[in-house]
Amino acid sequence: MSAKNYHRISSCALTGLEGVVVEIEVSILPGLPRFEVTGRGDHAIRESRDRVRAAIRHSGYNFPKGRVVASYAPASLPKQGSAFDLPLALAVLASSDQVVRMAGTSETAAFGELSLDGHVRYVHGALGRLLSLREKGIRHVIGPSACEGEANAVDSVRYEGVSTLKEAVLRYSGVSSSKSRAAALPAPEAVQDLEAADPFGMIRGQEEGIRACTIAAAGWHPILLMGAPGCGKTSLASVIPEILPPLTVEESLEVSKIYSVSGHAPRSGGLVKSRPFRHTHHTVTCGALIGGGLIPSPGECTLAHRGVLFLDEVTEIQPRVLDALREPLETGHIHLSRAERNATFPADFLFVAACNPCRCGYLLEPKGQCRCDDAAVRRHLSRISGPLFDRFDLVVSLTRVDTQEMISIPDADSTSSIRHAKLTKELISNAWAVQQERASRRGLANFLNAKVRVPDPERYFAVSDKAMTFAADIADRNQLSVRSFFSMLRIARTIADLEQHEFIREIDIAEASHYKARLPFVTPQS
Ligand SMILES: [Zn+2]
Repeated sequence: MSAKNYHRISSCALTGLEGVVVEIEVSILPGLPRFEVTGRGDHAIRESRDRVRAAIRHSGYNFPKGRVVASYAPASLPKQGSAFDLPLALAVLASSDQVVRMAGTSETAAFGELSLDGHVRYVHGALGRLLSLREKGIRHVIGPSACEGEANAVDSVRYEGVSTLKEAVLRYSGVSSSKSRAAALPAPEAVQDLEAADPFGMIRGQEEGIRACTIAAAGWHPILLMGAPGCGKTSLASVIPEILPPLTVEESLEVSKIYSVSGHAPRSGGLVKSRPFRHTHHTVTCGALIGGGLIPSPGECTLAHRGVLFLDEVTEIQPRVLDALREPLETGHIHLSRAERNATFPADFLFVAACNPCRCGYLLEPKGQCRCDDAAVRRHLSRISGPLFDRFDLVVSLTRVDTQEMISIPDADSTSSIRHAKLTKELISNAWAVQQERASRRGLANFLNAKVRVPDPERYFAVSDKAMTFAADIADRNQLSVRSFFSMLRIARTIADLEQHEFIREIDIAEASHYKARLPFVTPQS
């Protein structure tokens, strides 16, 4: 691997969330002093050359005389970013005999950005990089000490976090650090501990809202919460991740990769263990929502993957921004194509939106506080485009619970509320299991009711004849679109799954239709 005036070292690039192993070779050739980097390097690699040269000097080493040529393979890969600084510096030093590796040292890869004075800086995506290096059989990696937390999640790789180039040189030569790295970690522990807090505490009195959110969580149904300011929309939405079943090990790894690439990895280290909850406001831009940038990076939709994306004040969001949600809602992915680079990010989130029912917000309040006329209400709600509005399986109208009423609710102590939350969580978990079993009989990967795509939904969802006649009748009377009709069947299926009923009954349809009942003056165009 190493010969006089030549050295090869492995590192890792990122494409989307995944790492791709890159080989860096450095040769020192006779000739005028020059430092060349070949291969399709971008701007960042040219800058990297200057940083590497400065870091080497500031760390007390010599930059080799003669023509120093570095090349990257495969050359076609995007080698964006600064993560190659450290391996490049190590290869330059090794090819000029300033690092000598001890005999018997196993193959070692490196990544990390260098500052001009020789410090090793954090880079995004350590988790994805380490996983792909491990896949290639590389079990020893040197990288920024700031990435140690993420590295803890990858077992059977010896990760040595360093803060300076000098330290990296020591590790690369085969001298191990005295501090031993935390041993192989962790299967995600049983996630949110309901004993610790009372998730329903903030939303007592909103029984209808809790029921609707339970159904949404049980079948992954997009839900729109409508109600006056202060009625508890945000509290309701934030409870959903707590009642969803815990992340599986694979899901936890998948979510962790996303957070690693975006630089949001948990500070405590290890994997992300709870379902994400992303709360975005109406000022959100398209780029922030779906991701973007010269080097495509994930947006809120991807950060909410396997968890909840909560869009507050959805009527105030630019229509163009809302339209961008159509792709992820339909496919569970976001494809970003930029001038040179494409990236596909996962974006399978439970969509929860909230809005005021009218401009002043008090339309649904019983005391006649609303001062908006019908035309104003229609104008307000039409800001959510018809097709998007139609995408909400559940539309819930909420009214405010006054404090007196909240106090008088029987059993409003936190023990019973915690018990209620536990029971709800259990019901949802069981409903997921039923759906998974049904889908596996048909070989479907997407098992949750909102995501199931089959040519024969009536049969798949097991609607009894009586219930089907009843559903058709409701659809006629309410002039439901075809999409709304099937969305009503899906919700009825989820309600039946929560109660472990094999067939959808009329009563399930009746409850489902309740969430389809639009406000009288909203006429979604399809
Ligand atoms: Zn109003």
